Amino acid sequence: MKINQNSLDIFCAEKINKLEEASGFRTLKTTHRASGAQSQQAGKSLISFSCNDYLGLSHHPVILEKAHEAAKLYGAGAAASRLITGNYPLLESLEKKLAKLKNTQACLVFGSGFLANIGLIPALVGADDVILVDELAHACLNSGARLSGAKTIRFKHNDCEDLENHLKMQRSSFSKCLILTDTVFSMDGDLAPLPSFRDIANRYDSWLITDDAHGIGVLGAGRGGGFAFNPPVEADVQMGTLSKALGSYGGYVCGSQKLIDLLVNRARSFVYSTGLPPMSTAAALAALEIIEQDPTLVDKPLAHARRFCERVGLSIPQSPIVPVIFGGNETVMKISEKLAQEGFLVSAIRPPTVPENTARLRIAFNAAHEAEHIDRLADLVRDARKEYGSI
Ligand SMILES: *Cc1c(COP(=O)(O)O)cnc(C)c1O
Repeated sequence: MKINQNSLDIFCAEKINKLEEASGFRTLKTTHRASGAQSQQAGKSLISFSCNDYLGLSHHPVILEKAHEAAKLYGAGAAASRLITGNYPLLESLEKKLAKLKNTQACLVFGSGFLANIGLIPALVGADDVILVDELAHACLNSGARLSGAKTIRFKHNDCEDLENHLKMQRSSFSKCLILTDTVFSMDGDLAPLPSFRDIANRYDSWLITDDAHGIGVLGAGRGGGFAFNPPVEADVQMGTLSKALGSYGGYVCGSQKLIDLLVNRARSFVYSTGLPPMSTAAALAALEIIEQDPTLVDKPLAHARRFCERVGLSIPQSPIVPVIFGGNETVMKISEKLAQEGFLVSAIRPPTVPENTARLRIAFNAAHEAEHIDRLADLVRDARKEYGSI
C-alpha cells in the first residue's frame, strides 16, 4: 500500500516538474463571479474578459427564477439516465426550441458539450472509417475521434485545399467519412469557412459536423456560426453547448430525427450518464427565450470586440473572442498579472490548450462590458504589444 502511494506520488512529481520547467504548470484560482462582468479573485475585484458568459445570462434574474422553480418542481438532480427516469418534462421543450433555432428536425440534450462530442462521434464511425478534423478544433472533438477508433487526420487550420488533398488521397480507402470543425475557434475567435466545407463534404460523400459552442447566442442573430453566412450553412450535425452564451450547463446535438433516434440508443455518454439537472435545463430554456426577444443584447459582444480591435489596431474580429498572441509562456503570464493589477481579469492561455510558442491572452467580450473598460484594456494591451512584441 505504502509503496504504491510513493510510486504514484513520484510519478506525479516528475510530470509536474516538467510542466513547471516549461512555465506550464496550472493551478486553480477560486473566482467569485458576480453579475455584469464583475469577478473577484484572491479578494481583488476585477472586470472579467475571460468568461464565456457572453450575454451575462448566468446571473439574469428571470433565468435564476426559472432555475429555482425547476429545482422545486423536479429536484436538484435528474436521479437517473434519461432512458430510465431522468427524462423530466422540461427537456422536451428545450430540445424542440433548439431544433427550431437550428432549423433541424430534432435535437438531443447531453450532460455537457464534451459529453455530446465523445458520445456522438463514436456512435457514427468506427475502425473502417476516417475522420478529418481541423488541427485547432476543440479537445473534445479529438477525444471523440480517438474513442471512435476511426483513422483520424488533422488538416491545416481552416485550409480547404489541405482538407481536399487528404480526401483525394484517403477517401476511397474508407467506408464513412466525417469532417469535424468548430464554427468559431475557441482560442482564435475566427470562423471556419463553412460554405466551402459544406461543398467539399458533398463532393467527397462525407458528413459535416460543426461544433457551435462559441456561436450560439452571439452570431447569426443568436442562431450560431452557421447562420453568420448568407445563405446559412447546414451541417449534417450541429452540436454545441448550453454552457457559454446561454449561461447554463449542458450540451446538445441537432440533426435529423433518425440521427437523434440512433444517438438515444448508441451514444454512450447519453445512455450511461445521468440526465442534466432540471435547473440547467430550465435556465437554458429561459436563456433561449431572452435571445429570441432581445436582438440588441445578442449584437453587443461582437460590437465590443470590434471597438477593442479598432483601438488596438488589430484586424476586424469575426466573433467576440480576440486572441493576442505573445508566444512565450512567461511573457503572457507577466502581462496577465499586470492586467490584473490594473483591475482586469484576462487569462493567459498556454500550451497544450494552444500550440507551442503561441501562448496568448484570450480576450472574450460580453454584453456587460462598458466602453470605458474596453478602451482602458485596449490601451494596456497596445502598450504590452509595443513592449513585448506580439505575433
Ligand atoms: C467549451 C467547448 C466545448 C465543451 O462544452 P462544455 O459544455 O463546456 O463541456 C466543446 N466545444 C467547444 C468548441 C468548446 O469551446
